[in-house]
Amino acid sequence: CGIVGYVGPAEASSRPLDVALDGLRRLEYRGYDSAGVALVAPGRDDVAVAKKSGKLANLVEELDARPLPGATASIGHTRWATHGGPTDVNAHPHLADGGRLAVIHNGIVENFASLRAGLVADGAVLLSETDTEVTAHLLAREYRATGDLTSAMAATARQLEGTFTLLAVHADAPGTVVGARHDSPLVVGLGDGENFLGSDVAAFVASTHEALELAQDQVVTITATSVEVSDFDGAPAEGKRFTVDWDAAA
Ligand code: GLU
Repeated sequence: CGIVGYVGPAEASSRPLDVALDGLRRLEYRGYDSAGVALVAPGRDDVAVAKKSGKLANLVEELDARPLPGATASIGHTRWATHGGPTDVNAHPHLADGGRLAVIHNGIVENFASLRAGLVADGAVLLSETDTEVTAHLLAREYRATGDLTSAMAATARQLEGTFTLLAVHADAPGTVVGARHDSPLVVGLGDGENFLGSDVAAFVASTHEALELAQDQVVTITATSVEVSDFDGAPAEGKRFTVDWDAAA
């Protein structure tokens, strides 16, 4: 339902978590039943995840009880359940690749049942009832084949039917968030030494008003200092620059 992504400077800090939680708070107006975040940092060999059903306050309470380490990049999600009830396990992010890869998703993967059957036949162990979790395992499989998160995301997107905005982080690439969209919104926020992704500009308007609109069927890869856009076949593409002309309340 609500999606936030962030990459900042190479030193791990609390900013990626702060940006994710602030963005999710600003997207709360859309409605949701669960919330979660994933963080990556250099030198850590897995992704740190916290997710809780219910209000964002439940996630914040969980983070108070079980603080996550500082990070360089984050993804955050508020879920409006379509496949599988509003439980902690079904909340996003969903993990794959032995906890090294995390994915969040808005929308519906219509062909998830056949994809899931193929993944299970290949030995994947899926923990949730969601359509989303198959995208994490597909992305892990493509990443193992190519070693490149951006082309793995494009290859994953080509296999999905339905509607999706996907964001992913991998422990191998702690300075990168990769995203894709198909009939579902995704906007890039351009910062100074940091960059953002959001399902709408509310996700990052507290930090920057400079933004990049993506077209449908595009993949985007952000680092702290770069934004690269391509289509689902890997051909380079361009976003459209615009300035957000409203002020964020504190
Ligand atoms: N279909 C996904 C789920 O039920 C994502 C729902 C959403 O857009 O929040 O988990």
